[in-house]
Amino acid sequence: MTVNSGDKNNWREKYLNALDEQEQLEKKFAAQQALLRSALVRVSVAADGQDETLDLIMARLREHLRTDISAVDMSSLLSKLESAALEFERHRDQGAQDIRQALIDITKPLQQFKLSRAVKKELGEYMALLPQRSKKVRLYPALLQELARIQQQALAEIEQPKSGLFGKILGGKPAAKNTDPDNTDTEASVIENLPAPFPDVSAPETSPVPQDTYLTAAYAEQIHQVLNQFFTSLESESAIKAKVESLRKNMVQGINAQNLVPLLGNLRDLVMEAYLAANNAFATYLKNVNQELAEIYMLLGGAVKNTESERAASRKLQDDVMRGMSDLESRTDSATDINQLKDHVKSQLGNIRQVIDHYQQTDHAQQALAEQLQTLGAKIKTMEVEAEKNRTTLENHRQKALRDPLTELPNREAYNERAQAEVQRWQRYGRPLTIAIFDIDHFKKINDTYGHQAGDRVIKVIGRSIATRLREVDFFCRYGGEEFVALMPETDSQTALAVLEKIREAIASAAFNYKDQPMSITLSVGVTEFKTGDMLDMAFDRADQALYTAKSLGRNRCQLV
Ligand code: GH3
Ligand code: MG
Ligand code: MG
Repeated sequence: MTVNSGDKNNWREKYLNALDEQEQLEKKFAAQQALLRSALVRVSVAADGQDETLDLIMARLREHLRTDISAVDMSSLLSKLESAALEFERHRDQGAQDIRQALIDITKPLQQFKLSRAVKKELGEYMALLPQRSKKVRLYPALLQELARIQQQALAEIEQPKSGLFGKILGGKPAAKNTDPDNTDTEASVIENLPAPFPDVSAPETSPVPQDTYLTAAYAEQIHQVLNQFFTSLESESAIKAKVESLRKNMVQGINAQNLVPLLGNLRDLVMEAYLAANNAFATYLKNVNQELAEIYMLLGGAVKNTESERAASRKLQDDVMRGMSDLESRTDSATDINQLKDHVKSQLGNIRQVIDHYQQTDHAQQALAEQLQTLGAKIKTMEVEAEKNRTTLENHRQKALRDPLTELPNREAYNERAQAEVQRWQRYGRPLTIAIFDIDHFKKINDTYGHQAGDRVIKVIGRSIATRLREVDFFCRYGGEEFVALMPETDSQTALAVLEKIREAIASAAFNYKDQPMSITLSVGVTEFKTGDMLDMAFDRADQALYTAKSLGRNRCQLV
């Protein structure tokens, strides 16, 4: 088998190109990963300070990101980021649920009392609608306000001494806790520690409560407990923590008819403030996250164009991303509802996860491709080494096959190859080409006289002797037996004849010895130059004919034809 050198170069070039491409891709991915990492760190920093749990998760996320990103599972990182947002959301929902429960707990005890039909109806409707209305956190201030109003009406009725039934229910004296004159709650004491701009409840929006009214001890205690729970749930809101603590302090002496309404009014305002603060913080956080996520998404969208086949898909993805981004931007800016914003962020995260999955798939594909290329490269290398070995062996065999073992000159096979090449060159360029056939005279006699081995030695010595007298560009071979052939390119017949004559003379005059016996050896040579229209065999036959003529003319001569 022979290996074409063109094929070999082709393979090597493909292999080197593939390696170059691979290297470029690796550099590109490294840069993109660095960008991605810094963008994600910025996201987590933007979200910092909103919530303790969220902060912890973000810190962990940053820690991951500062390590080698290639060792980090991108999907799981983003999943953590999403979980962090959801955790924050859940935390908010839990707070809302606590508030809802507190509202129910405050309202329920009122139903125990005998109230006018109008108030009872209002209370009933309020309770009936509470589960539905309390699902929306932003309705809480209104709910509290409504509750405060109903409660005020109810309390006013409960405190009517005219009713015999009310007289039984209300003991006619204040709760034991509230008998201490120093601790008597007043509206002024309720607001004592509240910082501005907390609303001044000394001028409540609702109608004033009669100063000499009071609640049953059990009811007051129940309301006290419920309000305490309410405050506890509100305390987790860092924005209003100080105000909640201050309000709670003013309640330590218990609840009575005088401080209940102002307390509820304060509570309503606190809830409103907490709601707005948290809403703003969350909205800002979501906006920041959304913006950063959009950047990452764009970045990743750009990263997904590794192979030719993926380029079209990637372009489409880019377009989709661009369209999605401008849509998202306008929706984010115009979003009035926090749930809308959350939805945007969620969809962003979904998009990013999709792109990252794709990115990772292509990354894996790239890795697989790189491995395949490496394996292929190794195989090619092995094949090259093998092929090189084979080529060397083949060449050695070929060289041996083309060489005459006795004289170590080219043989007749070599002549056939070389003669064809020389004839083609002669035909193409028209430069002169001469062929000469040498034959040792009376060689049979040499064999007969000195033996076959001596004959071999003569063939060897004569062959080499002629070869050294020819030029490098001339081709000279042992054609067979005691016959030799010379192909003399760029040499016309006259020039060739001159050279051949010199050789003939040199051989004829050389003093060959066999076992100290002088030995005379002569050559006859037939010579001819290639003529227009000649085929190889035609010129060869002509030279052979000339040789025959030389023999017939007495040998030891060169015959040109
Ligand atoms: P001439 O050419 O002058 O007419 O006479 P010749 O004796 O050389 O005649 P011919 O070419 O007919 O004989 C060649 C002889 O060379 C025949 C053969 O025995 C002998 N011969 C051929 N090859 C070898 C070889 O390799 N070694 C030896 N020792 N002899 C060989
Ligand atoms: Mg012969
Ligand atoms: Mg002969």
